[in-house]
Amino acid sequence: MSILLSNGKEIPIEMHKIRIVQRVRLAPAAERLQAMEKAGYNTFMLRSRDIFLDMLTDSGTNAMTDLQQAAMMQADDAYAGSESFYRLTDAVEDVFGYKYVLPVHQGRAAEHLLAKTFIKPGQVVPMNYHFTTTRAHFELVGGTVLELYADEALNTQSSHPFKGNIDLARLKECIDKYGAEKISFVRMEATTNLLGGQPYSMENLKAIKAMIEPLGIFLLIDGSLISENAYLIKQREAGYADKSIKEIIREMMEIADILYLSARKSCSVRGGMIATNRKDLHDAIRPWLPVYEGFFTYGGMSSREIEAMAVGMREMTELEVAGSAADAIKYFVNRCVEEGIPVVTPPGGLACHVDARRMIPHVPQSQYPAGAMSAAIYIAAGIRTMERGSVSMDRDREGNDVPSDLELCRLAVPRRIFTMSHYEYAVDRLKWIKANADLIGGLVFFEEPPVLRFFAGLMKPLGGWGQKLAAKFAQDFGPNC
Ligand SMILES: *Cc1c(COP(=O)(O)O)cnc(C)c1O
Repeated sequence: MSILLSNGKEIPIEMHKIRIVQRVRLAPAAERLQAMEKAGYNTFMLRSRDIFLDMLTDSGTNAMTDLQQAAMMQADDAYAGSESFYRLTDAVEDVFGYKYVLPVHQGRAAEHLLAKTFIKPGQVVPMNYHFTTTRAHFELVGGTVLELYADEALNTQSSHPFKGNIDLARLKECIDKYGAEKISFVRMEATTNLLGGQPYSMENLKAIKAMIEPLGIFLLIDGSLISENAYLIKQREAGYADKSIKEIIREMMEIADILYLSARKSCSVRGGMIATNRKDLHDAIRPWLPVYEGFFTYGGMSSREIEAMAVGMREMTELEVAGSAADAIKYFVNRCVEEGIPVVTPPGGLACHVDARRMIPHVPQSQYPAGAMSAAIYIAAGIRTMERGSVSMDRDREGNDVPSDLELCRLAVPRRIFTMSHYEYAVDRLKWIKANADLIGGLVFFEEPPVLRFFAGLMKPLGGWGQKLAAKFAQDFGPNC
């Protein structure tokens, strides 16, 4: 939620009070440099104790509500037929209107089952944009990911309200080129993660469905960030201002054929699921669930998380919850723009994304500018961010680096974790980094895993720039900052 102050300014306002807190520590710059060196300039390799503000991700890091915690106490740990599962299916039916539910341990497990069931070698999967784990699973079974976004999606200085839309002309071209039998399904990702948390519109969803339904192609939604997409539709799309978040989500689900999600995001727990009303799709996936995840009524999740997921799923349809991250992000992004920090606009529903190409234009893409930016932000501020650029792209089948469309450094906004002073601190340190951008150089891998290399790859700063940046920081702010 946002609230208007008497001076005409809008600020994000928390519609909750904080009853449990976790201490954090701001290690001095010299210590942060050491930690970054030890982590191979990869923020995934840092230890939590060395981090002041953890903006790596919103995945599994949201604050739960008292009601979610309370629900965990009534967990029914039966291996089969657990009551907890039936409370989850009630919530799914209520929120999404879908009656078949396949629980999985997290989002990528859903992607694994969907890929295994529906993608045949040589087929293509059109989508608005890939997610890292989605691409990995779809390609591992021999499929090809086709990203059919509009050109505007890659413009990081935009005011387009729905950069997560599929370009309909490109979808038509794709169908004409490959034919329906070579298309596994069409995937639409809510609040498109790697495009900077950008939403699709309901209009776009309807048009996609109208095009593919007569051809027998089904529409799959990745709803990991669905409540934020619904919130942004309510704010930005004509005709939706007076609809509730639940009505908007229900309308999406009436258009789609099948949904999967990582419950670690909008639902604020750790888990995932696939849901649908189409018996044929459900029946095709179902046999594989106990093979890879667990029995049909727990799917690899703990009963406690299943209970908390049922509550979190209903809660995400409340306006204050659906908008809690989006309105903080709006503030965070707009403050960065005011201070001249190059970030992705318009504000989306996931994070504040620094555009590394504009922040450190002298670092070539082959030296991973977004990775360098991510390391620099940790050294200068103790803030952990995530590289969302070429490090996050694996090499192609010939072993060549694949340059990413965008070189973004993501400052994720987990739900109900940070306050305005945290955002103001981040803005201030980003401003300092921009003023000292010439000190930052590129990175080179010295250890590189063959798949999802961004998780565990180790890098070195070219020319030892990390040391120079830390020294300049200590000079400007003193040794204890
Ligand atoms: C996080 C995420 C996934 C993967 O889910 P995990 O729970 O991390 O396995 C898939 N799609 C999107 C859009 C996500 O944000």
